[in-house]
Amino acid sequence: MATPKTDLEKRKQISVRGIAQVENVANVKKTFNRHLHYTLVKDRNVSTPRDYYFALAHTVRDHLTSRWIRTQQHYYEKDPKRVYYLSLEYYMGRSLTNTMINLGIQSACDEALYQLGLDIEELESLEEDAGLGNGGLGRLAACFLDSMATLRMAAYGYGIRYEYGIFAQKIRNGEQVEEPDDWLRFGNPWEKGRPEYMVPVNFYGRVEDTPQGKKWLDTQIVFAMPYDNPIPGYQNNVVNTMRLWSAKSPNNFNLRFFNDGDYIQAVLDRNFAENISRVLYPNDNFFEGKELRLKQEYFMVAATLQDIIRRFKSSKFGSRDQVRTSFDSFPDKVAIQLNDTHPSLAIPELMRILIDIEGLTWASAWDVCVKTCAYTNHTVLPEALERWPTSMLEHILPRHLQIIYEINHLHLQEVSRRWPGDMDRIRRMSLVEEHGEKRVNMAHLCIVGSHAVNGVAAIHSEIIKRDLFKDFYEMTPEKFQNKTNGITPRRWLLLCNPALADVIAEKIGEEWVVHLDQLTKLKELAKDSGFVRAVQTAKQENKLRLAKQLEQEYGVTVNPSSMFDIQVKRIHEYKRQLLNCLHIITLYNRIKANPGGNFVPRTVMIGGKAAPGYHTAKQIIRLICAVGRVVNNDPIVGDKLKVIYLENYRVTLAEKIIPAADLSQQISTAGTEASGTGNMKFMLNGALTIGTLDGANIEMMEEMGKDNIFIFGMTVDEVEELKRKGYNAYDYYNQLPELRQCIDQIQSGFFSPNNPDQFKDLVNVLMHHDRFFLFADYESYIKCQDEVGKLYEKPADWTSKAIMNIASSGKFSSDRTISEYGREIWGVEPSWEKLPAPHEPRETENEEESK
Ligand SMILES: *Cc1c(COP(=O)(O)O)cnc(C)c1O
Repeated sequence: MATPKTDLEKRKQISVRGIAQVENVANVKKTFNRHLHYTLVKDRNVSTPRDYYFALAHTVRDHLTSRWIRTQQHYYEKDPKRVYYLSLEYYMGRSLTNTMINLGIQSACDEALYQLGLDIEELESLEEDAGLGNGGLGRLAACFLDSMATLRMAAYGYGIRYEYGIFAQKIRNGEQVEEPDDWLRFGNPWEKGRPEYMVPVNFYGRVEDTPQGKKWLDTQIVFAMPYDNPIPGYQNNVVNTMRLWSAKSPNNFNLRFFNDGDYIQAVLDRNFAENISRVLYPNDNFFEGKELRLKQEYFMVAATLQDIIRRFKSSKFGSRDQVRTSFDSFPDKVAIQLNDTHPSLAIPELMRILIDIEGLTWASAWDVCVKTCAYTNHTVLPEALERWPTSMLEHILPRHLQIIYEINHLHLQEVSRRWPGDMDRIRRMSLVEEHGEKRVNMAHLCIVGSHAVNGVAAIHSEIIKRDLFKDFYEMTPEKFQNKTNGITPRRWLLLCNPALADVIAEKIGEEWVVHLDQLTKLKELAKDSGFVRAVQTAKQENKLRLAKQLEQEYGVTVNPSSMFDIQVKRIHEYKRQLLNCLHIITLYNRIKANPGGNFVPRTVMIGGKAAPGYHTAKQIIRLICAVGRVVNNDPIVGDKLKVIYLENYRVTLAEKIIPAADLSQQISTAGTEASGTGNMKFMLNGALTIGTLDGANIEMMEEMGKDNIFIFGMTVDEVEELKRKGYNAYDYYNQLPELRQCIDQIQSGFFSPNNPDQFKDLVNVLMHHDRFFLFADYESYIKCQDEVGKLYEKPADWTSKAIMNIASSGKFSSDRTISEYGREIWGVEPSWEKLPAPHEPRETENEEESK
């Protein structure tokens, strides 16, 4: 047996990361030392690890700079159609390692830092996550930016530079406690502020009807200051831009109200305006109709549209020489993608600019708007759909409400032309809901104002056509599309799982990094004993590393040969962490009833944040922790079963946990998880899935074959049938003794002896108002878990299926998703051609351009 290698030695010999060129290493060292001296103003005697991190980040950033400038020059010169991705969330995580990988300088940096006697992994761990997202929707935006740059699209991500991202979760006495995420405290080496592109955003005021049209007057102004963040493509010399807006108070803010000379108060009050970009709302799949959130949404949209229109007008081949800009070509030059309805005010804002400022007629403005905009729906849960009260819109955005009313008027005219006298349909399809408090249904606004509407997995796209947006589908079926979500293989395999990436590269080379379909070549190796062993070794390495970290950071000891059974995602009733918990309790009861029995050892790990105001989700966390306390301290159980709550689940933790997973739990009630992307990350990293026929799980099963995934529970149709019949939890409680035992234990305080009533609310939800039918799937879930346990006892068979998972995950690359958006929605072709490197001559012009 070879002598065990240190992590650093392993990193140095890794094949996929290329070979460190001597001159590159020397260059990195030189630049690093220069930054330590001139940027950090330190010498080696007084430098802290954080100084070293910043010196390294600046060194890596230097490698981006020329490519970034040249990419943007290239776009200006070629003037391709621009893609604008508008999102209130970007869940980016760390940038350092990703940037080194995408620039192809990772081995050079590894070697340089090694020669300088520094531990690069320690420095990497000092970077704060950019946690400007809640979960899947925000992480999707981040994966899409990576793919758009890798596919050479002239794309921009627009969003908000929240001063506080998603809160840090602490678990104290088995309970979630939130701490603010002050991620900018030490500075952000990746961003570049651009005060010269600051733009004003208006709020409040009134609308005046003048001979020259509508005027929005007496508004309060807040400035939007852009911060640009580089988005490098994978080794193609492309660097795109994510532009995040920060709120700045105008210099004269409030002064007119303080003529009495309260200058100090006027300065202090600047905070009010700047609060707009202070903090990310921590809700996932939940609409909370707060005024500040509405302001955030409009702030982002208003600043972004000014930028888009400025860039359109100043385009080299555009119409800047004309007295009045022609917007006829706008939809040929601009595509705007709305990530859920959060940026839906882009539709009335674009109309306002085109009509009130640019002087277009309503008809031509509407034509431009619909051709330019496209909308992605992310959920069918009613509590997640944005419905802003008209009273709030009228107060904050009076002109936009007028425009929305006019859009609605013309839209309903069309509805009644198509369905004369169908008043019920008119009521259902109205943008304005009149029952109870009058509200605007933002999804309806998006459908009417866009040329394309898409769901994020095949089943979800069918459900929105059949159910949520049925009437709209009947009116404009040609708008409705599917774009199954994906994940970037750069971060979610190459970066987070170098051990597996190497095992794969050794067999099929490295092309899979940009053509993930290539992984199908591994199918013929699923039963190759050498390859099976190599994949097992990589998995075991990852499990050992995670076990070591859990030991170090939380003092918990886990058995690294136990099955790592993992469910990490936001805590939500529809995701059914409680069903997982019922399985854990069932296993516990079986061990207690038969201590000498043969049990497959499991370490069940659950992680995720609950929205701070979501009481039931917080109770679910408490229950999992309480069950863990009982199970983990029971000597009879030993290491047959361990339950660990993974604190502060976020992108960086996902990168550590997913490569170490044996089993991935994707157990939402069929019809509730629009797609899921966590499921794809686990599949790509060789975990087997236990899941329902929901979201992208269905397409995963189609790709790998049903023998390679553990499917249980009701289908969407069966859930619908159960709803019609009427669901009664007692039917299952009375029929299933193991279920009854679990519920009775939770109810009676078995897991909360100091507070026997602790989980009464939770039991009440399960027994009386469970919208997600946990008991209806319990029996089939437990049986399916038993099959999982049996297979785990045959390691070679297990790993063969794991290989089939990896080999079938090509479809779930966000490169595939983005290529489809490009071709089928944006009218933009993906390209795998590189841009010339900074030391190479520019691409010759006039090849495809006629002018
Ligand atoms: C991928 C990801 C998610 C989404 O997970 P789902 O299981 O699809 O809900 C949420 N949070 C983080 C940190 C992620 O990386």
